[in-house]
Amino acid sequence: MALIVQKYGGTSVGNIERIRNVAHRIVKTYDQGHDVVVVLSAMSGVTDNLIALAHQASKMPDKRELDVLMSTGEQTTIALMAMTLQDMGYPAASLLGFQADIITDSMSTKARIMSIGAERIKTMLAEKKIVIIAGFQGIDPEGNITTLGRGGSDTSAVAIAAAVKADSCEIYTDVDGVYTTDPRICDKARKLKTISYDEMLEMASLGAKVLQIRSVGFAKKYNVPIHVRSSFNEEEGTMVVGEDSGMEELVVSGITLDKNEARLTLKKVPDQPGIASKVFVPLAEAGIQVDMIIQNTRSGGQTDLTFTVNKTDAKQAMVIAEKVAKEIEAEEVLVADDIAKVSVIGVGMKNHAGVAATMFSALAAENINIRLISTSEIRISCVIDDRYAELAVRVLHQAFNLDKI
Ligand code: ADP
Ligand code: ASP
Ligand code: MG
Repeated sequence: MALIVQKYGGTSVGNIERIRNVAHRIVKTYDQGHDVVVVLSAMSGVTDNLIALAHQASKMPDKRELDVLMSTGEQTTIALMAMTLQDMGYPAASLLGFQADIITDSMSTKARIMSIGAERIKTMLAEKKIVIIAGFQGIDPEGNITTLGRGGSDTSAVAIAAAVKADSCEIYTDVDGVYTTDPRICDKARKLKTISYDEMLEMASLGAKVLQIRSVGFAKKYNVPIHVRSSFNEEEGTMVVGEDSGMEELVVSGITLDKNEARLTLKKVPDQPGIASKVFVPLAEAGIQVDMIIQNTRSGGQTDLTFTVNKTDAKQAMVIAEKVAKEIEAEEVLVADDIAKVSVIGVGMKNHAGVAATMFSALAAENINIRLISTSEIRISCVIDDRYAELAVRVLHQAFNLDKI
């Protein structure tokens, strides 16, 4: 008998029929004698709708209230799932994040899980209940409801799996595993049998939303193997594990696309010590993560300072940047959200020259202009105009021979 955590994403619980389909999967595992903890997302589209409503109510919705609102999506699905299971004759009960003792920090809309008290979950399992927990949410030490950032139910599931010392953590989604790139963009994408935590961390941080990055961080830290698979078929999925020799022979193992960033430029900034900290300290204090940063030197002791942030933070970042621009006498602040970041990832890159050259040539051959570039030891990212985003992914997938692994 094992203890199994199963997480089902938005599409998998998108309507009552699908909830019923998932319920059958859950009871199949339960009937085999296993203890089952289920973590659910909101029905697909619901979180987006709630956010849209918030923006109708307020120009810049208060983040604490946004969390109260967004967390309702998962409240609906856990209750519906528990009722469905009960109707089928099974003992099931739902728990909201706070009821499952999921304690987070106080960073509204992108809180981090600090601890999970597993006692209540374990007591319910001992009573032979199927425990259905709301993903994406927790409670901070002051008692405020928090959410974990978009896609955060993956993190709830892995953190719960670590807390209850589960034997396995299965992430059920609408694709049957982790692919070399998003299979919805490139029909030549290949399913990977296994992928290492480190490569999955890069893929997730660069836009492969199949797993939220923090879930992979948790899995690596607590050594939780994740099985990513489909809730619509019985195929074996992809194992995300500690190491994977198969992948390391590839120079590039995955391509990602991220359309969630916006670019801000402070024009004609004085080229003096301390200016960068004047811009980036208040952004950090507001909890805004900055991704790429580029400074172009102009003549006359001035520079243009360009950086990217998540689109959801763009308005707030703009307000802060405009305030700073006045203080430091920069000319103006420009914002563009029609950008996309395409990245190539692979641990094999460490030992191979020419990856950047191949990437730039492939983009140039399609006349795709590169606006920003950033690199790390195992990846290269380029910001391009978003109208070329999907084309760029397909072109790079082919250029790095991923079409025919
Ligand atoms: P869920 O609602 O189940 O959490 P998500 O929409 O968050 O599902 O994540 C699954 C989606 O991730 C897939 O539908 C797919 O389009 C996308 N995706 C992006 N990159 C990849 C990849 N490399 N492999 C598999 N899926 C990917
Ligand atoms: N419902 C949340 C979202 O759409 C969390 C999740 O699905 O993982 O981002
Ligand atoms: Mg998701």
